[in-house]
Amino acid sequence: MTTLIFSHKSAENHDMGHGHPECPNRIKAVTRALEADRFKNLDKREAPLATIEQISRIHSQIYVEQIIDLVPQEGLHQIDPDTALCPGSGEAAMRACGAVVAAIDAIMAGESNSAFCAMRPPGHHAEPSRGMGFCLFNNIAVGVQHARIVHNLERVAIVDFDVHHGNGTQSAFWSEEDVFFASSHQYPFYPGTGSAKETGVGNICNVPLAEGTGSQHFRRKIEGTILPALEKFKPQLIFLSAGFDAHSRDPLANLHLEEEDFGWITSKLVDIAGEHCDAKIISSLEGGYDLTALPNCVTAHLTELVKAM
Ligand SMILES: [Zn+2]
Repeated sequence: MTTLIFSHKSAENHDMGHGHPECPNRIKAVTRALEADRFKNLDKREAPLATIEQISRIHSQIYVEQIIDLVPQEGLHQIDPDTALCPGSGEAAMRACGAVVAAIDAIMAGESNSAFCAMRPPGHHAEPSRGMGFCLFNNIAVGVQHARIVHNLERVAIVDFDVHHGNGTQSAFWSEEDVFFASSHQYPFYPGTGSAKETGVGNICNVPLAEGTGSQHFRRKIEGTILPALEKFKPQLIFLSAGFDAHSRDPLANLHLEEEDFGWITSKLVDIAGEHCDAKIISSLEGGYDLTALPNCVTAHLTELVKAM
């Protein structure tokens, strides 16, 4: 049994225009990292399309259909100042959700314990009724609903270590006490949410980090907040919103983490998965915009994720 990797060529066809940091080269760099010798035995699968019904468990059906209708035949259709649709965006977005859904089905069928979804666009800023911040559909949130509704899981956790707060995921599960959402992020920063006072119905754990935060403080904060809260929650399945833009080289943010820090947090979460949920853990790519740091971070992340057992 080995870690599953879900990817699809369509992730390269979502292109928001020249110079946009959330670009097809990101996924090309990740794909090259996944081709390394150390990952040659992983179970690599194609990400299927999610259905409108699956995506509509989080987003309103009107919003989902609107996004699909707005996909242009050529050129770009802007949905917010940072986020646009191009002709390839609809398929990429539906497969980015489909990857997480397929990962859950495979893991619940006992085919593996762990999965990494190497897709884009990212998802964690997408709120139930609007996309924003490079995100169209909330891939992880769609997956969480699939796990709860189709596989009847009662306690599901999401840990989001992207440098930006996962406002979309928080908004989707704000009053769902059976879904634990933890996020570490630069704060104050885009998208503006994520203060430690935002706690939902006691199910949300925000860990704001000041600009310039480095490895030591990051690890101390995670050890003092998210990890004990996650242990206390005792999830049956852990989802990761795996963004790598807290890396010191990232052009969009100002935290100072290194590859090893992403390996470290992954190993801690894999340990908790081993303790509470038969090692079941699913990671989905979010941000990470330095094309040198991103593949190295993914390598560090996956090197620990494959140890889930
Ligand atoms: Zn981000």
